[in-house]
Amino acid sequence: MNFYPEFEVVRNDSRCIRCRVCERQCANEVHWYDADGKVMLSDESKCVNCQRCVTLCPTRALKIVKSDCRLRENANYSDQTIKEIYRQAETGGVLLSSMGNPNPLPVYWDKILINASQVTNPPIDPLREPMETRVFLGKKPEHITRNADGTLNTQLAPQLTLSMPVMFSAMSYGSISYNAHASLARAASALGICYNTGEGGLHEDFYKYGKNTIVQVASGRFGVHKDYLEAGAAIEIKMGQGAKPGIGGHLPGTKAVGDVAKTRMIPEGSDAISPAPHHDIYSIEDLRQLVYSLKEATEYRLPVIVKVAAVHNIAAIASGIARSGADIIAIDGFRGGTGAAPTRIRDNDGIPIEPALAAVDKRLRDEGIRNNVSIVCGGSVRSASDVVKAIALGADACYIATAACLAMGCHLCRSCHTGKCNWGIATQRPDLVKRLNPDIGSQRLINLMDAWRHEIKELMGGMGINSIEALRGNRLMLRGVGLTEKELEILGIAHAGE
Ligand code: SF4
Ligand code: SF4
Repeated sequence: MNFYPEFEVVRNDSRCIRCRVCERQCANEVHWYDADGKVMLSDESKCVNCQRCVTLCPTRALKIVKSDCRLRENANYSDQTIKEIYRQAETGGVLLSSMGNPNPLPVYWDKILINASQVTNPPIDPLREPMETRVFLGKKPEHITRNADGTLNTQLAPQLTLSMPVMFSAMSYGSISYNAHASLARAASALGICYNTGEGGLHEDFYKYGKNTIVQVASGRFGVHKDYLEAGAAIEIKMGQGAKPGIGGHLPGTKAVGDVAKTRMIPEGSDAISPAPHHDIYSIEDLRQLVYSLKEATEYRLPVIVKVAAVHNIAAIASGIARSGADIIAIDGFRGGTGAAPTRIRDNDGIPIEPALAAVDKRLRDEGIRNNVSIVCGGSVRSASDVVKAIALGADACYIATAACLAMGCHLCRSCHTGKCNWGIATQRPDLVKRLNPDIGSQRLINLMDAWRHEIKELMGGMGINSIEALRGNRLMLRGVGLTEKELEILGIAHAGE
């Protein structure tokens, strides 16, 4: 079925100098030059509105606009729903999407407001007074203990030390490009935080960033071997992902080429399919075995993270994980991004990170096991204020991925699964990969994190709080607006005015 395209290319012919930059820049082959008519033409049906041509057009002759040609209005069957039905009726296939759930479901971060000190409890000026943004992730002792000779026992379980409570979340080499990985690794190293290999293994060039690398072990076990485990600062067992809870991963054979295949330890051109479950984990006891196998393999030097998607009974699941021997729980909300996920799963499975985080923190506190684990939350953490709200709701640190991609140039066109990312991030095509310069990519990530670090300090200073540790789980610093009693109860915060 042929539809009028979703986007229209608007070219101002009086500005267009026929330089053909747009033609060269568009991996979707939307633009071409008609030599006879001496004009640039477009096939708008292929445009994904990635804005590459708009950004690089030297005379600002281009604009991409949403088409106003719609099917007849219907509040029940939206244009998109109808088109998806047509598409499936033609192909018989599962619809695929990328990046996070774009639907207008509540964003709780935007309905939570942060406190500020006035009169009786003075704020702190972060420019003049020290503020501690460092965090240490891992098990903490319940009590101070002494050794036999009376000295303090300062022995701690392995900790992941971060200069600020933000890390780059898992994105595998294969789903993102070599240059994107290089940008993340370099930035994490310069910032004193961590990035995450995702399930694609660790390219040999990046072993040197090991101190700032979280190495992931997913159900497919791609690229997992002893040196890989030992190279990282922490090991993450991926049980689930916010964008696609309950299903595995799939890197098509077309992307499993060259170094991507080598790093994953699979034959070139073969589909890299990670199964939905880990075939050796069907209970918390099984999970415990893997946690301890990984600790054993790395001589108990590294903290082990268990990453799960935020789902309905997340608090009970987290309680089990906290008892499994894991050092850190990572919870990924339903808005978390992905390189590719079935659209129906991405848009309908899982729950938002905010209530999931609040429920997990409360449950672990109620059970007296909060210090058994640190909590890292992700799944649409978009700004420094989201980070501060997450810490006050109970997180020790946050994971960001979509925001990191945006810093590297992503325009959220949500076409990562096509492998034709015009910004050089979610692609393996050499001509596209080289569009992302790792020097620039890493510097932009560093700039973003420096800006957030400063804003986090300002927000904390405004509350009269001078360390992340003092903010963690401090829900008195939060108020809700426009939330129901039930939502406030789950978030554990009072309404504005209370
Ligand atoms: S896909 Fe991107 S580069 Fe191509 S026409 Fe659309 S906005 Fe321009
Ligand atoms: S990473 Fe690339 S393909 Fe994916 S949303 Fe961003 S710009 Fe689009």
